[in-house]
Amino acid sequence: MRFPLALTVKIARHIIKHKLRKTPKFAMVLQLEPLHTCNLTCTGCGRIREYSTSLKDMVPLEQCLAAAQDCDAPMVSICGGEPLIYPKIEELVAGLREQGRIIYICTNAMFMRKKMRDYMATVFTPEMEPKLQQLVAEKLVTEKEAEAIRKADAAAKAKVVIKPSKWMYWNVHVDGLEFTHDLIVEREGVFKECVLAIKMAKILGYQTATNTTVYKETDVQEIEDMFKFLSSLDVDGHTISPGYDYDAAKKDMVKRLGRDPKEFFLTRDMTRKKFAKIEEWGQLFTIFGTPVYQEFLAGKRELTCTAWAIPTYNVKGWKAPCYLMTDGHYPTYGEMLGTVKWETYGVVNGVARDSRCEHCMVHCGYDPSGALSNKPRDTWINMKYNFGAKPKPYPASADLEKRAFNGVTIGKGHLAEAKAAINPAAGARGAFTRKEEEHTHAAAPAATGGGCGTGDTSQRDDLLAKIKANGSVTTKAE
Ligand code: SF4
Ligand code: SF4
Repeated sequence: MRFPLALTVKIARHIIKHKLRKTPKFAMVLQLEPLHTCNLTCTGCGRIREYSTSLKDMVPLEQCLAAAQDCDAPMVSICGGEPLIYPKIEELVAGLREQGRIIYICTNAMFMRKKMRDYMATVFTPEMEPKLQQLVAEKLVTEKEAEAIRKADAAAKAKVVIKPSKWMYWNVHVDGLEFTHDLIVEREGVFKECVLAIKMAKILGYQTATNTTVYKETDVQEIEDMFKFLSSLDVDGHTISPGYDYDAAKKDMVKRLGRDPKEFFLTRDMTRKKFAKIEEWGQLFTIFGTPVYQEFLAGKRELTCTAWAIPTYNVKGWKAPCYLMTDGHYPTYGEMLGTVKWETYGVVNGVARDSRCEHCMVHCGYDPSGALSNKPRDTWINMKYNFGAKPKPYPASADLEKRAFNGVTIGKGHLAEAKAAINPAAGARGAFTRKEEEHTHAAAPAATGGGCGTGDTSQRDDLLAKIKANGSVTTKAE
């Protein structure tokens, strides 16, 4: 099975219950944003921009748990911001488990290994020494960290921690292979950390998934290589969605990066071209999401948006109409359902009811439409897909690993030029030379097959400007 049986049964029971009751609108997945603070500033992230004035605010733990009760979605995706920064994240996960929910922790992975070391400290016994040794041998835990786990005191042992569970997934944000991912998250070394965290999670028995956003300049071959590589790490499943041009992200792009958002985000036609192979990927890799949604992405059918099925709750309340667009916040899920004029949103038979929806085909608007379809044929293909054999992990190989680590690991990170300018003796390779041939650093048009990821040189340019002004500079990335 692509998705574990117990979890499938839970979701199926939820849908059947509401269909029998003829509930017109109900929640399938709660997008819970306990905070919007993040340790990264990814290009294209709408959250940290839209909520820039409330980054210090947090939803109290009890309120987070009450929101889950309020909408009663069987699945909760804890996102943000970076949810592992939330001070009560462990208690939140434990509380949602007590409510019997399936949990996804959507993370950029930078704090995942720390959280897993905390877990190890609480359960460590001498019988676990071989596993600890394995983590040290694979450089996932340092000797010093291993010693801290062995010598955990009573306080460390008593901590509430995030334990492996079949009801919980780490859902790691990965937008491409090393060069592209680090460029999009605007920091070198993040891709490598994602890989280390996934490896550690698998050794410790956690379920792991990944989520990927496809942008205009995303190279389709690279996405396929990324799936192969992640599958070789035995990742349990992948979510993939086209990027959406958030107003806040668009404004940021113009102001901070001096870029035209049209260069970056996908139109519907472009999305269909990028996702032409999604059904093939669904057979080769464990792609989460219904085959009905996959047909929609591939341009084989239309669907109507069901944004109310994946509601978002955050510091301002229930965000309407969807995860992407904000026309208001409501105090309860019921009030949001009853007040929002849902018939004014989405795209029906190719015609946008709201111009902002025109190019949207995102997972959080349309994947539930596939799961909730009343057509017997759709129910059948959804069941066949989920109950079908889980694709086998892609064979790991040195070549695949080499293709994956195509950035800072081999001296070709997006900050390489700035570093070379700071320290020419180190002989860092020029940036943006991920292909063997030399080429322009500007973003290449999609028609040419794309060039340097987003083409965003702002971080490097800032550094070079500071070097010019001050003679030297140090960066977090060094
Ligand atoms: S890690 Fe997530 S929340 Fe943080 S900046 Fe990136 S996309 Fe936004
Ligand atoms: S189509 Fe639906 S999910 Fe997409 S922006 Fe419009 S309301 Fe939101």
